[in-house]
Amino acid sequence: MTNRIPLIAGNWKMNLDHQQAIALVQKLAWSLKDAAHDFSTAEVAVFPPFTDLRTVQTLIDADKFEIRIGAQDLSRFDSGAYTGEISGAFLKKLDVRYVLVGHSERRQFHDEDDVTVQAKTAAAFKHSLVPIICVGETLEQLESEGQAAVPVRQTLAALAGHANLGEFVIAYEPVWAIGTGKVASPEEAAAVCSKIREAIANEHSQEVAAAARILYGGSVKAANVAGFLRSPEVDGVLVGGASLDADEFSGIARFQKHIGV
Ligand code: PEP
Repeated sequence: MTNRIPLIAGNWKMNLDHQQAIALVQKLAWSLKDAAHDFSTAEVAVFPPFTDLRTVQTLIDADKFEIRIGAQDLSRFDSGAYTGEISGAFLKKLDVRYVLVGHSERRQFHDEDDVTVQAKTAAAFKHSLVPIICVGETLEQLESEGQAAVPVRQTLAALAGHANLGEFVIAYEPVWAIGTGKVASPEEAAAVCSKIREAIANEHSQEVAAAARILYGGSVKAANVAGFLRSPEVDGVLVGGASLDADEFSGIARFQKHIGV
């Protein structure tokens, strides 16, 4: 048993405008309320597109929903002539608590490398946001380097060189499992999460490693979530496609019902 509260994070990617966001967040909140969801046993966060954040913040604030807000990315810079970029300072002003850093779609389509991910992690710490550092191997890397090499390397690179490590979360997302319907087995996910934690302990400290939540992500659904979260090594899930359906995402958040905790 650990005292890390599981985090159920829903990455909407580039889906839902601000009006559709209202409908989804309301439905999700009602579904969790109907099920008497206890947020102290599983935290729930949504990661809407930037243009939805103000609307979602206003709704959550007005209706006192316990759902947390995350952003999908942030700039490594604070402010200035960086057209199209979003500062961590702006996110903080919108009550954003979490920010995804280094999602595989950013690494793949926006050429983000470990240096960029490290700089964005630093920006998140600077603005008191909690980075969710996404790591994971492609199928080719799985075949050539084995299961944990790439996620461990990416984790250590993102956490290197910070004067003080703030709170952070790691999301292990095998690239071959994102949006494909293919999932890692619960045993594989737990083994990689455990190796990531061990590497953090060796490079930083036992305390830092014990405090970090390490999530699994990749085609998670209500029907398979319990398998992952049964392991004490896995502290939550990062969910893409299934987070766009309020009932499905609420079912994922209520995973404890399936594992009898
Ligand atoms: C993701 O976007 O981080 C993700 C895990 O997507 P999906 O659940 O759709 O595989």
